[in-house]
Amino acid sequence: MSPFVAPVPEPDSGLERQAIIDLSAIANNIRHLRELSAPAQFMAVVKADAYGHGAVQVAQTAVAAGAQWLGTAHIAEALALREAGIDAPVLSWLHTPLSDFTAAVANNIDLGCSGWELEHIVGAVRALERPARVHLKIDTGLGRNGCSREHWSALVDAAMGYQREGLIRVVGVFSHLAVADAPERPETDEQLERFREAVAVAEAAGADLEVRHLANTPATLSRPDTHFDLVRVGLGIYGLSPFPDRTSAQLGLVPAMTLATHLALCKNVPAGQGVSYGLNYVTAAPTTLGLVPMGYADGIPRVATGGPVRVNGITYPVVGRIAMDQMVIDLGPHAEVAGAVSDSGSEAGPDVAAGPALGATAVLFGNGHDGGPLVEQWADAAGTINYEVVTRISQRVPRSYTGGVECTGGDQ
Ligand SMILES: *Cc1c(COP(=O)(O)O)cnc(C)c1O
Repeated sequence: MSPFVAPVPEPDSGLERQAIIDLSAIANNIRHLRELSAPAQFMAVVKADAYGHGAVQVAQTAVAAGAQWLGTAHIAEALALREAGIDAPVLSWLHTPLSDFTAAVANNIDLGCSGWELEHIVGAVRALERPARVHLKIDTGLGRNGCSREHWSALVDAAMGYQREGLIRVVGVFSHLAVADAPERPETDEQLERFREAVAVAEAAGADLEVRHLANTPATLSRPDTHFDLVRVGLGIYGLSPFPDRTSAQLGLVPAMTLATHLALCKNVPAGQGVSYGLNYVTAAPTTLGLVPMGYADGIPRVATGGPVRVNGITYPVVGRIAMDQMVIDLGPHAEVAGAVSDSGSEAGPDVAAGPALGATAVLFGNGHDGGPLVEQWADAAGTINYEVVTRISQRVPRSYTGGVECTGGDQ
């Protein structure tokens, strides 16, 4: 059940192509997810430009909706939030020796630490004469970032030594789950057990932890036993489902991004017309083609032929190859289409039934409340996941925002 009725965002007719971000949907998704995860605190993960939704706008919305924390992968992403005037607690967890730890400490950004970072953090602290807040990361089984279990005690001891010197404060212990999107798999239980052990080691060494945290979106939704003191939620706040077999609506979430443009051409063609590079699609009968002026430079996967485009309430699959700037839909054998230009160059008369026409709004995906296409259909067409589709919508597509913080109203 959806926690609120989301209107379908209206594309701004002044924009040729746009990703409309419904901030009230994000605020409501956060409120819904907070209800599921309370009393744990809530971190809105806004890395990668908030999964393509706009980091600053989403971060401001998240804080207003009650998120106590923000999360980014990179320090540079966290610094951009600070530059925008956002002073909520921020944690960054993916560093290289080239990361600007000094700027992070100077800007009060909490730092994830898997091991080697500790000396870099302490170096920045000594230069600034200002302590750092550190969250130690344990690899409980994902096999990526995080301290391996055999080195955990040594990392904890080193960090607690620096804490006694007043250089850092160990405020958190965290880890990341590998298969939380498949709740039936046993590895999450193993990771949970290893996480508890790692926390116990830190606490036995004297760490007075503010936050122990493990859960991402799928674990927040399906495993309350992973919530601990803080959940780190990315995908869910954008209204998308992490589970292959459960929709946003079934989870009470509303997709926040609508991707829309306007048809660049409607053209009547005869049977046998090949379409787009490779001529992989050939019209079976006389028909009207609609030209959608978005392509892989806008972040639409080139392999996603068959992805849905909604025009005038009807959803059409993309036919032929998706190119850098454009793709084509087959609008069907309308005898005549208003505004369409036939190959002979004659305009359809003004009295013919209105069909899709030059300039008609074309929606690639949205919140689905009008039965329109969903980002998951594009993910399926491209052989990927919803995370990747929204995150890769490129900067060539302007973002526009609706439902800002002041409009979200309380409970609805
Ligand atoms: C990206 C990320 C998250 C958020 O994951 P979602 O599945 O989008 O909720 C949480 N924690 C860490 C460490 C991450 O890198």
